[in-house]
Amino acid sequence: MPAYESVIGLEVHAQLNTESKLFCACSTKFGNEPNDNVCPVCSGMPGVLPVLNAKAVEYAAKLGLATGCTVQNKSVFERKNYFYPDLPKGYQISQLQQSICTAGVLSVEVDGKKRNVRINRIQIEEDAGKNIHSAAENASFVDLNRTSVPLLEIVSEPDLRTAEEAVAYLKALRSILLYLGISDGNMEEGSFRCDANVSIREKGSEEYGTRCELKNLNSFRFVQKAIEYEIDRQIDLIEDGEEVDQETRLYNPEKNATFTMRGKEEAHDYRYFPDPDLVPVLIKDETIAAWQSELPELPSEKLERFLEDFKLPADEAELLSGELAVAEFFEASVEAYKGDTPRKVANWIIGDLLPHLNDNGMSLSDCKLTPESLAGLVELLDKGDISQKIGRKIFPELCETGADPEKLVKDKGLVQVSDTGALEGVVDEVIQENPDEAEAYRGGKKKLMSFFMGQIMRKTKGQANPGVVTELLQKKLG
Ligand code: ADP
Ligand code: MG
Ligand code: ZN
Repeated sequence: MPAYESVIGLEVHAQLNTESKLFCACSTKFGNEPNDNVCPVCSGMPGVLPVLNAKAVEYAAKLGLATGCTVQNKSVFERKNYFYPDLPKGYQISQLQQSICTAGVLSVEVDGKKRNVRINRIQIEEDAGKNIHSAAENASFVDLNRTSVPLLEIVSEPDLRTAEEAVAYLKALRSILLYLGISDGNMEEGSFRCDANVSIREKGSEEYGTRCELKNLNSFRFVQKAIEYEIDRQIDLIEDGEEVDQETRLYNPEKNATFTMRGKEEAHDYRYFPDPDLVPVLIKDETIAAWQSELPELPSEKLERFLEDFKLPADEAELLSGELAVAEFFEASVEAYKGDTPRKVANWIIGDLLPHLNDNGMSLSDCKLTPESLAGLVELLDKGDISQKIGRKIFPELCETGADPEKLVKDKGLVQVSDTGALEGVVDEVIQENPDEAEAYRGGKKKLMSFFMGQIMRKTKGQANPGVVTELLQKKLG
């Protein structure tokens, strides 16, 4: 059996977070009543004229600059013609031959292996509306709120080789969109979605195999699973002496399988042609230079800085820099923190805050913990005012109420007891109550130290300073 290699190229659609739609003044707000955000232009009335949203052009160019693309001085909008009830004009305004950005690159790393994924182009296009099928009313409805909301389509070259790399690429792209502040990247609401083209070939072959395009991939997990399934399916076909048909396939998460949606024969001919209602988009070099200078620090740059400034291990720096909100929370916490071990702040975010959010299905913005209270918590630990255990215990409350940690531990009487005199009595008591263990310890079973520590912690409700207790135990059991 020959060794196979999979080849993957992704077409990503990212919704821009402009206030208004791409060619009219309607709001882009998500969740309004159906057909609230509609006007004669986006509902495709005859005789109306589109007016291009300048912000959408700027956002597209900025994503291009952030991914090493060339921003074209001239790009052209084309009509992609097809019929569907959610597309009242009968065509979608898009770009193809002369897209705004071309030839970029995005690097991803999986298991220490770096891959440069070339970006073929970034095009600006409008979204379609939404059909709503109601079984209760035995009718279908069309909601045009989303019609003509600006999208970027980011088309990669077939440079990805595994499902993991595809997911890493998507995460990197989403991270850049959020850093630029041009999209909310919300996959559940469909502001970040992707089609995956998958083919396989014998390892070492220069030619590409026949590809299938997978649709309906609205989570990272589904992207991963759908691609893995598809790779296996294509290998099975070839091993059985059959051929892969070029087709569009739909991923079904319940069955974890892909199914034919349409074959090559049913592929649309969209009859693209330049939209006569829109002039070409001309962008001056000075404008591109100005946009370049406005770019914020990007994820890869922040990662480098975290590695450098805080001496964090690579995986921790990556976790903290990947999501802008988390990165900003970390930086604000370190800023507020008066101690000299920012790594401890990082550890609380990675080890406690992120799992807390995950377990409760929350995002950082739902959580009341402030950078100041996290910094305060770490300072209390640094000073030995509370034990790690108490820190963990009060952490959920800090997240839920946003309380000041210093005040909280005082009010609750949780301040750690470090006073030797105060602890001595408890240590003596525990030794007296456990003569056999004390005997065994003196006889060489040094492991029993943790037994005594546990007993003392129980008696002091976790408030004894472990360092002081250890010293006392060693002295008394010595
Ligand atoms: P089309 O116009 O038919 O959609 P594109 O050139 O736009 O063709 O390619 C669509 C996507 O398919 C791109 O992301 C590209 O990288 C990917 N692709 C092209 N050929 C292959 C292949 N053999 N295997 C996997 N992906 C491919
Ligand atoms: Mg295409
Ligand atoms: Zn409108």
